[in-house]
Amino acid sequence: MEEHSDNEQLSSLAFTKRISRLLLVCLTGVTELKAGDQALLDKIRELSNLLVTVLDGKTDSPPVLGAELEQIFDELVVQKYLIEKEREAAKQVFIAFAQTIHEMSRSSGEFDESLSEQIAVIEAAESMSDIFSAKDIVLEQTKKIQTETHAMREELEESKKATSDLTQLLEQVESKAMIDPLTQVFNRGTYNMEIGKMVKRFNRYKEPAALIMIDIDHFKKFNDDYGHKAGDAILTLVATVIKEAVRESDLVFRYGGEEFVALLNKIELENAQRVAEKVRAEIESHHLTNKSAVLKVTASLGFSCFKEGDSETDVFERADKALYQGKQNGRNRVEYVL
Ligand code: GH3
Ligand code: MG
Ligand code: MG
Repeated sequence: MEEHSDNEQLSSLAFTKRISRLLLVCLTGVTELKAGDQALLDKIRELSNLLVTVLDGKTDSPPVLGAELEQIFDELVVQKYLIEKEREAAKQVFIAFAQTIHEMSRSSGEFDESLSEQIAVIEAAESMSDIFSAKDIVLEQTKKIQTETHAMREELEESKKATSDLTQLLEQVESKAMIDPLTQVFNRGTYNMEIGKMVKRFNRYKEPAALIMIDIDHFKKFNDDYGHKAGDAILTLVATVIKEAVRESDLVFRYGGEEFVALLNKIELENAQRVAEKVRAEIESHHLTNKSAVLKVTASLGFSCFKEGDSETDVFERADKALYQGKQNGRNRVEYVL
């Protein structure tokens, strides 16, 4: 009887311990979890019912129940830990994403402000649903940016085309303004610009250069004998011959009626003499036919090399003086003035 009572006492103590352990586990679990999780509350209710049946003595399996409960709560705690980890990771991803968009849309004040707000929302987010709703707004903004970028790109393409059309038009107008329409060499206005540049370049880099003046001999006679049209044809022929006789980098201008100027780069006196002589010989070797008449054409040339301290007119005047000497000395010849 005594023994039975001891056993009963032991069993009751063990039972109390188990129940206490159960309650402890329940309390730990519940405090770990947030309220409002309906599924969990249902589970707890189910467990409470079980506990009641145990306390009523209707069942005799508390150790198993305790282990089950502990396991359930352990799992729930692990789940919560994982959810927190996931939330943290998702938060970082969305913040990085929103910041990228933020950088992209820096130019647009409207998006900038809205995205800054969403980044703050994500940073402060407590739950996944906070993060997801902020994400939705960020995505919406991204779509807007995409649409705007697309529209901007189209506008850019259009304005690029307009610019290129304008550039082309400008180039046409510019080249028309720079070129002599009859002979297709540069005109006097262009000469005025280029001689200025050349003098500056010479004074800065000291690269030798020369100026040649070419004046058609007795040109007036062509006009008088064969008419203005024949005169024009001679001018065009001479311009073409000069252009072909000099280097591509040299510039040829129609300075006045039947006077041309060639600006030669990177050339010393000796070679300038050679080029001038070549121009003269090439002009002489060409002719035009007018009906049955053969129009022979010659020109006189005067040149000078650029000198230190030269103004735009100094070098021109020396070449002009040399040309005058050429005319004086019988035409169809080259002279130079140092
Ligand atoms: P010189 O050998 O001394 O240079 O004699 P020149 O007849 O060539 O010189 P001058 O200066 O007496 O005559 C130049 C002529 O060039 C006068 C003008 O009628 C003619 N001329 C000027 N511009 C043009 C033009 O655009 N077309 C034509 N056909 N003739 C022009
Ligand atoms: Mg002349
Ligand atoms: Mg002449």
